[in-house]
Amino acid sequence: MVINVAIDGPAGAGKSTVARAAAKELGYIYVDTGALYRAVGVNALRNNLDTTDAAAVSATLDKITVELKFADGVQQVLLNGENVSEEIRTPDASMAASNVSAIPAVRAFLFDLQKNIAKENNCLMDGRDIGTVVLPDAQVKIFLTASAEKRAKRRYDELIAKGTKVEYNNVLEELIQRDYNDSHREVAPLKPAEDSILVDTSDLSLEESIDKVVSTIKEKIG
Ligand code: C5P
Repeated sequence: MVINVAIDGPAGAGKSTVARAAAKELGYIYVDTGALYRAVGVNALRNNLDTTDAAAVSATLDKITVELKFADGVQQVLLNGENVSEEIRTPDASMAASNVSAIPAVRAFLFDLQKNIAKENNCLMDGRDIGTVVLPDAQVKIFLTASAEKRAKRRYDELIAKGTKVEYNNVLEELIQRDYNDSHREVAPLKPAEDSILVDTSDLSLEESIDKVVSTIKEKIG
C-alpha cells in the first residue's frame, strides 16, 4: 500500500525544510506543491500579466507545461521544459504564486499532476490544501504552523543568507498578506483538515520540528 502524508500550513512555517528532512528519514519522496503555483506565477510575470487577472492567467494554461522531476530525491520544477527551480524562489514569485493560486482554473490545471504522484509513490506532500482537497484520504495529515513573527524571521534569514536584499518588516507584511490571501480565497482555502494533527514550531528548533513530524507519522502509521 502506498503511504501518503499531507503537510499543510501557512507560508514560512518551515514546511519545506521539515518535510524534506522527514521524507528523507522515512525514505519517501518529498513533493513541494507550492513550486507548481510558483511556476504558473513566474510564467504570468514573464508575460507581464497582472497575476490577479483570472481571465488573463487562465488563458496561459493551455500554452504551458508544468512538470516535476525528482533527481536523487530532489525536486526540480520545469516550466515548458525549462528548469525554473531557482527563479520561482524570489519574493515577486511568492506573491505571484499566491495570486494565481486563488484562480480555480489554475488549481484544476495542477490537480491531476499532484494526484498522480501520490498514487504511485510513498510521499510526503506539502502545500495548503493537501489534506483537505488533493489527498483527503492521506493516512497522515499534519498542519504545521508557527507565529507570523517567527515565520517572517526565518524567511528573512533565508533570503539574507542567499544574498537577497530585503527588510524584515517587508517580509513580515508580505507574509501576513499571503496568509490572508491563502485563507480567505474561495477555492481550497488554507485551513487545517478536520482530521489533521497540529504541530506548532514557534518554540521548536529545526531538529525538534523534524523529530516531532517524523514521530507523529510513525505513531500514526504504526
Ligand atoms: O509553499 P509556497 O510558499 O511555495 O507556496 C506559494 C504559494 O502557492 C502559497 O502562498 C499559496 O498561495 C500557493 N499554494 C497553494 N496550494 C498549495 C501550495 C501552494 O495555494 N497546495
